[in-house]
Order: sequence, then C-alpha cells, then structure tokens
Amino acid sequence: MHPVMLVGAGPGDPDLLTLKAVKALQQATVIFVDDLVGEGVLQHAHPQARIVRVGKRGGCRSTPQAFIERLMIRSARRGERVVRLKGGDPFIFGRGGEEVEHLRAAGLTVEVVNGITAGLAAVTSLNTPLTHRDHAHGVVFVTGHARESGQRLDWAELGRSAQALRLTLVVYMCMNGLEAITADLQQGLVAHTPALVVQHAATPRQRQVTGPLCAIVALARQAGLGSPAVVVIGDVLRGLQAVQREAGDASARAVMVG
Ligand code: SAH
Repeated sequence: MHPVMLVGAGPGDPDLLTLKAVKALQQATVIFVDDLVGEGVLQHAHPQARIVRVGKRGGCRSTPQAFIERLMIRSARRGERVVRLKGGDPFIFGRGGEEVEHLRAAGLTVEVVNGITAGLAAVTSLNTPLTHRDHAHGVVFVTGHARESGQRLDWAELGRSAQALRLTLVVYMCMNGLEAITADLQQGLVAHTPALVVQHAATPRQRQVTGPLCAIVALARQAGLGSPAVVVIGDVLRGLQAVQREAGDASARAVMVG
C-alpha cells in the first residue's frame, strides 16, 4: 500500500508549492481537495487523477471529517495513490494532526508535505517580516475560532504576554469574532500597536488594510474584508506605513511598504 500523502497546497499561488508537493500531485491517482486550495494548484495533477472536493466552499455542504477519512482509507486500501490536499500547511490548524492519527489508527502510513501557511504568505506578500531583532522576539500562530465545546482563549492574557515578551500575533479564523478579540487583546497590548488584516493572501484577490489595533475592526469593515483572512498584530508591522483602505483596487499588492 502506498502511504497517504497529506500535502500542503500553500495559500493559493501555485508558484508557492514545494517541489515535493508537485511530485505528489503528479503521482496521485485520487486527490481529496480541501477548502481554500487555489484552483491553479490542481494544474499539477495527473490528467487522469480523480479530483474529489470535500470542502464546504467547493461543494454544496461541508463533507463530514469522518466520511472524508473513510473515503481516503478505502482508496488507499485499494492500492490507489492518495493525496489529501490542504490549504496552507497541513499542520497549521485545518485538522491535519487529527487526520494523521485516524489514518495511522486504520493501519495506513502517512507522509506529510509542508506548505506555506497563510499567515506567512500574508506578510511576505507585503515584504514584511514576522520577527525582527528590534521589534519582535517571536511569533504566535493562534486560532480565533474555538471548538464548539472548547474553551475560549484568554485573549487578554495573550495580549499581556505579547506586550511583555514582544511577540507578533498571527490570528487565523477570527473575522467573525474580531471585535471581541481585539477588545480583549487591548487589555494587554497598547491600543496603537500596528495591526494588519489580509484577505485572500497570495491570490489575485488579495486585499488588505493596516492601522492601529484599536481601529482595525472598523477599517476592515469599511473595506469590506471578510473570511478567509489572517490578522497580524505587532510592532514588527511598523514598516508598513500609512493606513491603506483599498477596497480591491489593482494597486493593493504594491502599496503600503514604506
Ligand atoms: N492550514 C491553513 C489554515 C487552515 S484554517 C494554513 O496553513 O494556512 C483556515 C484559515 O486560514 C482561514 O479562516 C484564514 O484565517 C486562513 N487562510 C487560509 N487561506 C488564506 C488566505 N489565502 N489568505 C488569508 N487567510 C487565509
């Protein structure tokens, strides 16, 4: 049996795929494609490969996780070369860890191929780092979306730590709860800490706004930014000058770096 390949598709731009991901796509006989995988990425698939879309945005409804896993297990046992293609990096949110556990429990071997995670692509597209010797000693990738049964993250505490330890925050899946999250963060973080929202990072539809933490919700709303987006917060963004509120104009990718 071939190992099931759990492959990171990166944020959307096919040029950001790893060579290992491209090889896996070329060899796959069946590819299970998640939400938020750029269409261009699939151009690397073998023409005869079966493409199965299992994300909520691609099809009509979200395919339940257990069902996707059963399909993958069945295909692998039949001797197919299975690729599970996930947006960004398979192990940054997106349940890659859970899938590996379940596939291994079913007796399959799994190989994981890194992808460029959305938070990294978002700042890099604006030539901005996540760490800097003068501004940020580290970076925290954090989700704004708790599991239904799960506990909400203590954002005030995270804000205090980010302020004290000089950490950059990169928040995924947070557009619905952004108002409460930024309010809580300001219990620790200075209200004028620079913030950035990037929607559709590394795709032709990329748009972003930047401004102080205390105003970022209003700015994002004004620009009509929504999911999928990442929010980056920290002094490392100081290089991004002048608040930009482009609402989708073509210069969006070229501005802001000062
Ligand atoms: N494994 C993925 C993250 C999956 S969780 C990765 O490493 O990127 C889904 C969340 O990722 C979205 O809600 C959004 O916060 C973020 N995201 C994914 N693609 C994005 C993109 N192109 N631009 C901005 N955010 C994105």
